[in-house]
Amino acid sequence: MTIGFVGLGIMGTPMAANLLKAGHAVTGFDVSAERVERLLARGGKGARSVAEAVTGADLVITMLPDSPQVEEVVPEILEHARPGLLYVDMSTIRPETSRWVAGRAAPLGVRALDAPVSGGERGAVDGTLSIMVGGAAEDFEAARPVLGVLGTTVVHVGPPGAGQTVKAANQLVVGGIYGLVAEAIVLLEASGVDPAAGLDVLAGGLAGSRILDLKRHSMIRREFAPGFRVDLHHKDMGIAIAAAREAGVSLPLTGQVAQLVAAARAQGHGSLDHSALLKVIERLNG
Ligand code: NAD
Repeated sequence: MTIGFVGLGIMGTPMAANLLKAGHAVTGFDVSAERVERLLARGGKGARSVAEAVTGADLVITMLPDSPQVEEVVPEILEHARPGLLYVDMSTIRPETSRWVAGRAAPLGVRALDAPVSGGERGAVDGTLSIMVGGAAEDFEAARPVLGVLGTTVVHVGPPGAGQTVKAANQLVVGGIYGLVAEAIVLLEASGVDPAAGLDVLAGGLAGSRILDLKRHSMIRREFAPGFRVDLHHKDMGIAIAAAREAGVSLPLTGQVAQLVAAARAQGHGSLDHSALLKVIERLNG
């Protein structure tokens, strides 16, 4: 397929690289020229605008930070889309923005899907992301072969916006687990117990998780290079709180985790990895 790819950041660059490796023709655009250069180095084509990346594409992917950036590029995508284009937004944004995109796309014959991902930079590099997809079932089937290059768990979860709601649920769970792993490290160290030995045991028992598997060593070493930035997780906790409000439900633990992530940001850690929640728990403890 001919694929236009907009947003070549931490996630977008390795995802585009995997599409190239699978034999697709990828034309990428990013507001950062240096990021477009990185795609050229991997065998892709560079575009100087969203329009150039979209023109002639069978499928367009966006992987942008937040709702405002998606709202900014969508008019240009729709203006230059060929009829029948599959437009897959893989950014994590508000569910209502995804519904707005689908509503604008449908009258133009553009098939829009919201397909946010989980699995982090590692999952993007390895092509092992979990992808949760909202939109029409037949459009999901049409996009599935391409999504299958990027992820190993690719699930159609409902109508437009449903993918984003599942992602909000994912992010509140991930934030909560980071907070509790941070508390476990603080407890172990304050009690004079080797945290590495302690967390090795936790990782093998009922408390085991992907986060413990992938992040316990770097957290104990206080290595917080992103990965997934605190700023982005702060955005995602806001999406989760807003989704809860819209659904009319109370999520008390999500509220607490959102405040801890907000504290990480307020303490100046916005550009660190979200495992830097440990810094907040440490500071609470002097
Ligand atoms: P990032 O900031 O590294 O990348 C975003 C890219 O978009 C940047 O290169 C930026 O220059 C570009 N951009 C911004 N506005 C643009 C515009 N108008 N036109 C073209 N390019 C533009 O972010 P990321 O970590 O790659 O995350 C992207 C999305 O994926 C976010 O919604 C994030 O929440 C989600 N996500 C990230 C991770 C992760 O581990 N990093 C994991 C799952 C989901």
